Amino acid sequence: MRIFLMFFLLISALFSGSFKLKRWQEGETFGTYLTKHHIDSTKFYNQIDPDDIKFLSAIQAGITFFESSEGGKLKEALIPLGEEMQIYVFKKKNGYGFDIVPIKYKVIKDTVTIKIKNSCFTDIKKATNNPDLATYLNKIFKGYVDFTKLKKGDTVSVKYEQKSIKGIPWGEPKIIGAYIKSQESEYFAYQNKNGYQVWSNSNLLQKVTKVAKKVPALYKSFNNPLNKMRITSAFTYKRWHPILHRYRPHLGIDIGAKRGTPIYAVADGKVVYAGWMRGYGKVTKIDHGGGYISLYAHQSRILVKKGQFVKARQVIGRVGSTGRSTGPHLHLGVYKRGKPINPFRVLGKLVLIKGGGTIYKKVAVTSKNLAKDLPDKEKKLYNALAKISQTKPFIWKKFNKNIQIHFENIRKESSNADRFKLSSKKGAA
Ligand SMILES: [Zn+2]
Repeated sequence: MRIFLMFFLLISALFSGSFKLKRWQEGETFGTYLTKHHIDSTKFYNQIDPDDIKFLSAIQAGITFFESSEGGKLKEALIPLGEEMQIYVFKKKNGYGFDIVPIKYKVIKDTVTIKIKNSCFTDIKKATNNPDLATYLNKIFKGYVDFTKLKKGDTVSVKYEQKSIKGIPWGEPKIIGAYIKSQESEYFAYQNKNGYQVWSNSNLLQKVTKVAKKVPALYKSFNNPLNKMRITSAFTYKRWHPILHRYRPHLGIDIGAKRGTPIYAVADGKVVYAGWMRGYGKVTKIDHGGGYISLYAHQSRILVKKGQFVKARQVIGRVGSTGRSTGPHLHLGVYKRGKPINPFRVLGKLVLIKGGGTIYKKVAVTSKNLAKDLPDKEKKLYNALAKISQTKPFIWKKFNKNIQIHFENIRKESSNADRFKLSSKKGAA
């Protein structure tokens, strides 16, 4: 019943009123988020299962999330915690409710072709209902094709994948290959391990040779935070809670130890947080570079300060049971570019922080006959895209056509938060 109800709520949420995709700002906490929406935080926190409160501090700056409002007030918010679970805040009769629910998205794979009528950007947006696709295509072809100079009748074909939630594109599109045919030239881009390669038969492009540059690698060794690693709870994005009968993520590992046991920094870095966090108690966060941050929760004592540089294996605190905890243990979280990862992906390993290998400059290869000169694997993709570009324009059916996506000028927004606004026609469900 509960699941059914939630499903219904989610559907009705996405098909009524106006939804916005927002970005979680640097420095924003769940507390400041509630204040911003004039929500009584004491009342809000009191109704939450204390076990769940720690998730509120696990929201990572920079992630995008859904928000809807009604009469100037927050109606619903869906805030992802990693790839699979999300925080769900919704307006109730009296105040606001809270839950953690799975993120249900589909990955849509398709190949589309567009004949230019007005401008490349508006035509792609109109045909695909995908607000980011043209922007990402433009990035790939930057320096080779000027999208503003494509003319009426030119064609653009693209093979790509897009995550979608209830018919709304979610996250960045992943472009596998793209083909542009203008009156004078053909352009073809594909992805390989060095990034995107652009090929063209245009005489306007100068023949560019590959520029390779060796970048010295910086590795850091990540060590265990405690001498004895007695794991009491493993990392999982989605754990079935036997008592609550709901899914809950555990975004780190729990290591059982006596109160007062020294905690070591897993690698050298800079302390970026040292203090109290709801649910997590006394917490230290260390930035190791390369997008890696480690988090140590439930400490009895914090022995470092924000801004301080620490060495690997330096004692940074003591094991305790502060915050929401049933006994002394260390909760260790590791984040890579804001996303929680299993700490065992780095513990006991040499982790690449910077450089390491060859960086290729994006290159364009000019060729009289793309179909002949391309590598075998790419030839297939090229042929498929070149062929589809001769068919009639594709009408996108996979994204919900009742949902209109409006771009907003980011610079105009003081909050810098809205990337685009989503709204749907009434009664679309
Ligand atoms: Zn834990």
